[in-house]
Amino acid sequence: MSNRLGLYIHVPFCLSKCSYCHFASGVFAGSLIKPYFRALRREMESLPGLLQTWNAKGNGVADWVIDTIFVGGGTPSLVDGQEIGQSLEWIRNSFSLAPFPEITLEVNPGTVTDDKLDCYRDAGVNRISLGVQTFQDRLLKKVGRSHSVADSISTVEMCRRKGFDNLNVDLIAGLPGQTEDDWRENLSRVAVLSPEHLSLYLLEIHEDAHLGKREGLAGAALPDEDLVADWYRESVDWLESAGWEQYEISNFCTPGRQSRHNLKYWTDQPFIGFGCGAHSYWAGERWGNERDPVRYVELLESGQPAATFRSEITPRRHLEEVVFLGLRLNAGLDLWRCRRKFGVDLRERFGRELSQLAQGGLIEIEAGRLKLTSRGRLFSNEVFVQFMQ
Ligand code: SF4
Repeated sequence: MSNRLGLYIHVPFCLSKCSYCHFASGVFAGSLIKPYFRALRREMESLPGLLQTWNAKGNGVADWVIDTIFVGGGTPSLVDGQEIGQSLEWIRNSFSLAPFPEITLEVNPGTVTDDKLDCYRDAGVNRISLGVQTFQDRLLKKVGRSHSVADSISTVEMCRRKGFDNLNVDLIAGLPGQTEDDWRENLSRVAVLSPEHLSLYLLEIHEDAHLGKREGLAGAALPDEDLVADWYRESVDWLESAGWEQYEISNFCTPGRQSRHNLKYWTDQPFIGFGCGAHSYWAGERWGNERDPVRYVELLESGQPAATFRSEITPRRHLEEVVFLGLRLNAGLDLWRCRRKFGVDLRERFGRELSQLAQGGLIEIEAGRLKLTSRGRLFSNEVFVQFMQ
């Protein structure tokens, strides 16, 4: 049987830079789009050679098929639909795809047309992820989003009309100026739009985002962290009572609609990323590409590698990663499988940490699986740090 691989493709172009954003994205000259996609193609051409390294590193002989592709950004929906379509077609023609691959494309409300959606569908895109973030125009404006609430609603309707039956909506809790009423409105709007998947993020302030700088933070009127934690808790209860399944700290879905691509990140599965700022996890290594798209194009055009950092995953780090990434999932970690994979019983290796965390009501062991409790999901970073030695 073939092994399964996920591909990530990064498209950095945006209409505006949101104040909280720390991704490799921004407003770039339209003249960069064509060279960027040429560079992407060039980087993707390295995939067959990369696949060989799996066997060469003594991981056993394996055939690989691609079962998930995630085109993210940035705002992939900003560029011509043909660019996206041609990249996906090239992948299809060059590599083996598993039957029924999951192919996701990130869309920002207000940036798609019927023609673009046709292009995506014809290219095999079967899941659309929409960066809605919140349903109040004043808040969208405040954080520099380039779309309106009306755009969000009409974009969902367009996707539905074009036959997309697997939609994700991203929401952010804790945006500057957001109130409890705003947050409740977000949940009721989501209930009406009925996407198959919901990602509910708590705002994080990164120092390299505008909000992370003194002038960005001044007057931002961030809601109180405890209040935002209450919104999250209430949302989890409300979503569960409405028939949603929480399967990861920030992710909810209707039955069977988990993001197959994102599950790879939490379950120790390999993925390879292309484009500026893209990350990869492959054959015992993690690496990340040059973040600046202009420099990324220069590197590829001059035949240099796009990666600017690389690190080998030692057995110890591998175990730590498996624990703290696996704990993000509601299903938690199978202790027996962990033991089989690493020859380590987590209850012995982390005995002291586990008993302290259990006493604090943050973790539990149920039917041989180590899991975060609902309280633990709120304090997940404090839990994860216990497993990093
Ligand atoms: S649209 Fe997304 S990627 Fe672009 S700046 Fe805003 S948050 Fe960042």
